[in-house]
Amino acid sequence: MSESMDNKVVTRFAPSPTGFMHIGGVRTALFAYLWARKNDGVFILRIEDTDKEREVAGSIRHIQDSLHWLGIEWDFGPDKPGPFGSCIQSERLDEYLAIAHDLADRGLAYPDPYTPEELETFRAKAEAERRPLLMREHRPESFMPWDGKAPLRFKVPEIKRYKWHDEVRGNLEAGEEALDDFILIKSDGYPTYNFAHIIDDRDMGVTHIFRGDEFISSVPRFLSLYDALGIVPPKFVTLPPILRPDKTKKLGKRDGAKDVLEYRAEGYLPDAMMNFLALIGWNPGTEQELFDREALLQAFDISRIQIHGGVFNEEKLQWLNREYLLKLSDIDFANYVAPFLRETLEKRSIPITENTFIRIIPIIRERINISGDIATMAEEGEFDFYFVDPIGDSSKLPSKNESIDDVKKHLIYVREVFAGFSEETMDDHNKIKTSLWDYATEHGRGNVLWPLRYALTGREHSPDPFIVASIIGKDPAIRRIGNALHALDSV
Ligand code: GLU
Repeated sequence: MSESMDNKVVTRFAPSPTGFMHIGGVRTALFAYLWARKNDGVFILRIEDTDKEREVAGSIRHIQDSLHWLGIEWDFGPDKPGPFGSCIQSERLDEYLAIAHDLADRGLAYPDPYTPEELETFRAKAEAERRPLLMREHRPESFMPWDGKAPLRFKVPEIKRYKWHDEVRGNLEAGEEALDDFILIKSDGYPTYNFAHIIDDRDMGVTHIFRGDEFISSVPRFLSLYDALGIVPPKFVTLPPILRPDKTKKLGKRDGAKDVLEYRAEGYLPDAMMNFLALIGWNPGTEQELFDREALLQAFDISRIQIHGGVFNEEKLQWLNREYLLKLSDIDFANYVAPFLRETLEKRSIPITENTFIRIIPIIRERINISGDIATMAEEGEFDFYFVDPIGDSSKLPSKNESIDDVKKHLIYVREVFAGFSEETMDDHNKIKTSLWDYATEHGRGNVLWPLRYALTGREHSPDPFIVASIIGKDPAIRRIGNALHALDSV
């Protein structure tokens, strides 16, 4: 450990590169990161890649991209080894092997003498007797020297009850049945998680282990190894599970535990996601729900991490996203939303006119919930009419009570007003409104404005016709009214 890290809070996020980063993983990373930053400490990204069979290519990149997106920056990591030589476990094998040999030499570890078939027999027997399989009951009478090839098993030095403190759950304990001789080094030469993480946490000076509750039952085993190695364990900070919205179970893939980068693709803002994740299993003790990064750093505290599960509520995420979108400046909003919109329109081969594109963004701003909705709205063709003439359903042109003849009369009136406009007047939706308002009021606003809006957009929901007309411009507006009149002839 480097000297500059002495006395500092050191936390780490230690994912295994076995696929995409889901909500639970990122939440762990966030809490560990917040605690380090809040305490002016160090945050390490460590890659735990010792299970080669489960490794998925590209995961390390994906993990880094996900954290970068959220602004969870690490001080040391796969790209910044710092004083540790490497923060990737597969590059630290010599370190684990040296300690494994030392444990074997001290009689605290032994080569596992059993074939897979023999192990299977033990397992089946224990199962038949409805007892957990305890390998310490099958410990050989004398240990062979370890050649570095056979799997190496830890010999639990003392079978006893363990008591320990968890920063979230308080004082915990477990009986002897929680202890067993576990594998330290596998037959492929790689260490197990159980072994490697303990060495790494010591070497990296980790002071607080933030991790999910699935590891809680293994803590007694970890403690026995800490004892054997003479290591004082870091503080344990066990995060509550993330529950699905109905609170009946842990959130699974089917309930939306998806790749966190999918949220980026759907248009969620990183600040909204960070705020959302922070509130899963942590609360500030007040009603406040909006926390930007600074506010989170201020408010976050281990003492307010909940014991009980935190609920994953996607509606809350949408709400938060909207709140953060509203805070963006017009320029930031445009920069943020433009790529989603452009990409979707291009995918659908809608010819984009730049001038129109720029002008619709403020209108979209008023209509969105999440910009993911923008992608969906664009996919559903909701913005096409700004760029191409709509193909509407002429039977929808009349508002409820109007006769076809009256609808035609109104559209012809509007067309004439438009024809008399300069391009400049047509640019100004307020002027369009003023020119049509008296006529519309006299004939019933819905009767006039509904068919006009439908003629211009071909949609039952859209911004008001003055805005639409001002954006698409004079010639297209006149042409579309003409198309609608033509269509009405066949109604
Ligand atoms: N590599 C473990 C996992 O991905 C990390 C557990 C820990 O943080 O210690 O689940």
